[in-house]
Amino acid sequence: MSKTIALIVAAGRGHRLGGALPKQYLPLAGITVLRRTVQLFQAHPGIQQVRVVIHPDDALLYAEALNGIDLPAPIHGGATRQDSVRLGLEALAADAPDSVLIQDAARPFADAALIDRVLDALADHPGAIPAIAVADTLKRAIDGRIETTVPRTGLYRAQTPQGFRFADILAAHRACAGQELTDDASVLEAAGQTVVLVEGAEANVKITTAEDMMRAETLLGAARESRSASGFDVHRFAGSGDHVTLCGVSVPHDSALEGHSDADVGLHALTDALLGCIGAGDIGQHFPPSDPQWRGASSDRFLAHARSLVEARGGRIVHVDVTLICERPKIGPYRDAMVARVAEILRLSPDRVSVKATTTEQLGFTGRREGIAAQALATIELPR
Ligand code: MG
Repeated sequence: MSKTIALIVAAGRGHRLGGALPKQYLPLAGITVLRRTVQLFQAHPGIQQVRVVIHPDDALLYAEALNGIDLPAPIHGGATRQDSVRLGLEALAADAPDSVLIQDAARPFADAALIDRVLDALADHPGAIPAIAVADTLKRAIDGRIETTVPRTGLYRAQTPQGFRFADILAAHRACAGQELTDDASVLEAAGQTVVLVEGAEANVKITTAEDMMRAETLLGAARESRSASGFDVHRFAGSGDHVTLCGVSVPHDSALEGHSDADVGLHALTDALLGCIGAGDIGQHFPPSDPQWRGASSDRFLAHARSLVEARGGRIVHVDVTLICERPKIGPYRDAMVARVAEILRLSPDRVSVKATTTEQLGFTGRREGIAAQALATIELPR
């Protein structure tokens, strides 16, 4: 009987700021994306072994995600997806299978029938991939202006798993090492070999964004719940200086705000609101003022950290609202820039961010211009 190995590529880190977990390690309705993908291939009778290629830094994440699943040790990937696949294939070469299915870890919805179609086509061809005919009208544009309408006849969207005769794809990957081809079919195509298409599946989506994650949970019928929490912060004026930093924007003022970091009361209140949504304590626990590494730190790091904690729980930020409370400086001229900056840090569209300002009619410490206060409200969605 011929032997087929499923090689799951899970070495991507996501090149985004903020240290969010790579998507394959996020829970999808309570089970990590990687675990779902591995189980799919383990359960298929046409596949004799599953191997996973991971980033060397992700050994702990991998062990947690696949806890209780008996697999050979993971293979360490390289700098690009193509490198990772090649290194994965090399690791299989000593006990080479007849064929290999190369699968993106972030596609947890490949069904057994789709895997069957790829395996069946491999009997007659060196390579086979699932694909879906393009249904939308395609435009080629430059700077937002349409140059031409591209005929969609004969155009397909490629999916995974992509199946290959092992010796052919290993040789092709060796020959193409160092290039940046975006899928493995291209590697075999570059070697001049035939790759055929089999019918893909619309449900076989690749999860790349928080929105994809949400849609995937809806597909799985997973319930989500909404949570809101507030945050509050105050910083006093230093009595000297030439600007304050509010909601990530430098605002000219005749006094700076005192604080260990950049004293951005707006971002501090917002960070606490997000932490509150997931019961993750407060900003002082995550970034102790006693720790010298946060001296003068830009507070966008605090906010990005809170966002990454929400994302690590499979959560999504729905809306945030910040109210700055002070007599001076005037916030109005900087409000749009503040909204844009907060949206950027939280990776939200600006219509999900609100920044407001008020005075206290010269009453209290803000009224006496002794400092600035901020309150914030964050709303998120979490898997139930
Ligand atoms: Mg503070």
